[in-house]
Amino acid sequence: MAHSFIELTPKKRLRTGRSVWSDTPHPQLATHALKESLTCDIAIVGAGISGAFMAQSLSRHYDRVVVLDRRAPATGSTHASTAMLQFEIDTPLTALADQIGHPSAARAWRRSYKSTQELMRRIRNERIACGLSERSALYLAGDELGGRGMEKEARARNRAGLACEFLSARELRARYGIDRTGAILSDGAAVADPVALARGLLRKAKGQGARIFAPCDVTDVMATRHGVMLAAGGHFVEAKAVVFCTGYEVMKNLPDRVMKITSSWAAATAPGADYPTWLDQTLVWEAAKPYLYMRTGAGGRLIVGGEDADLDSPSYRAGTLEMKARRLAQKTRRLLPGLKPKWSHVWAGAFGESSDGLPIIDAVPDMPGCFAVMGFGGNGTIYAMIAAQLMPGLLKGKKPADSDPFRFR
Ligand SMILES: Cc1cc2nc3c(=O)[nH]c(=O)nc-3n(C[C@H](O)[C@H](O)[C@H](O)COP(=O)(O)OP(=O)(O)OC[C@H]3O[C@@H](n4cnc5c(N)ncnc54)[C@H](O)[C@@H]3O)c2cc1C
Repeated sequence: MAHSFIELTPKKRLRTGRSVWSDTPHPQLATHALKESLTCDIAIVGAGISGAFMAQSLSRHYDRVVVLDRRAPATGSTHASTAMLQFEIDTPLTALADQIGHPSAARAWRRSYKSTQELMRRIRNERIACGLSERSALYLAGDELGGRGMEKEARARNRAGLACEFLSARELRARYGIDRTGAILSDGAAVADPVALARGLLRKAKGQGARIFAPCDVTDVMATRHGVMLAAGGHFVEAKAVVFCTGYEVMKNLPDRVMKITSSWAAATAPGADYPTWLDQTLVWEAAKPYLYMRTGAGGRLIVGGEDADLDSPSYRAGTLEMKARRLAQKTRRLLPGLKPKWSHVWAGAFGESSDGLPIIDAVPDMPGCFAVMGFGGNGTIYAMIAAQLMPGLLKGKKPADSDPFRFR
């Protein structure tokens, strides 16, 4: 019997510091220990936001869905997310078109927009209480894209059917008091509480018959044409197919050439912070490296993030926490003069980037029945949604619409 046999994922310290969600009360989600071997239709490895969207989606299509996680649900990278739900991909449409051609780039951007809107609809239809709040997004010119580049980007987006407005430096100063060479303003973004969202989705999946086992470390996988066998917590899980949603603990030996794990930092004030009222309707981010971004949260918290660094080192993340927090405060002050944010929460986490800003959502080559979802980047939540939409088709061996830009490369 032809099969491949590999060791699975490294165990990492994914987060450092106290994320703003640590002190937010979340209803518990009951999980179980895996006490015996079992057989199922679909096994999902990972119960972060990617595994949660996947479980909610696939438990509508399959009777026996099993989710396995070595941690409690939503306590990996999802707990570090500032949960800006943006259709705007980190790589501008114009830059992505240079990398992968205009038709694929426009398709990826439009898909991201549609999935963001579908994500909001799903949260509302399923009545998931996760602080969902719709926002506009203000994308500021920076050292990666100046005012002229922004104008060109806005034209390209409009041509691709994505509504947005270019703001000149003068308009930006008049409307927002921000001193940059230009910006793009668009509707269709949102914010949420990522832990509440992931657990809410998993609760829906359970209601549809999915079973969640945690903590349960999946240590090995054996894939054959007849099914996939996982070694987990001293037992075996036999599945017709397995979807790996393991976040930044990436499965070893995958053939991707585009992904890189980095680090990112974030900070939040206590509720009742001082900031301009328009920030409650608007996300802000910039075309810079490293970039700064901000949103507001429940009760008037200011949540700011960025300062990404090109290495995946828990000790570096921990050692630089205070320095990065000071820098986030300085950059916030520089952008919005008069603001003096005092952080109540400072944290950092592993982060992911791909060279084109797009995720991998694909069948794993040479491992029949195995699929990988590597959401990554500032759009991780939206990519998790896209993966959940594409997976039913991929599992049937089809090539779902828009799946091309997300293949292994
Ligand atoms: C500071 C910061 C800010 C961010 N802000 C945003 C933002 O504003 N918007 C946004 O969309 N994204 C943001 N992100 C990115 C976002 O956090 C990630 O894209 C997202 O959480 C990834 O979700 P996931 O489910 O893929 O990974 P995780 O949440 O890490 O879930 C993967 C799960 O797989 C489990 N696992 C791994 N290997 C195994 C195994 N062998 N056996 C069993 N279980 C296993 C892990 O325990 C983990 O729980 C941010 C990230 C950071 C660090």
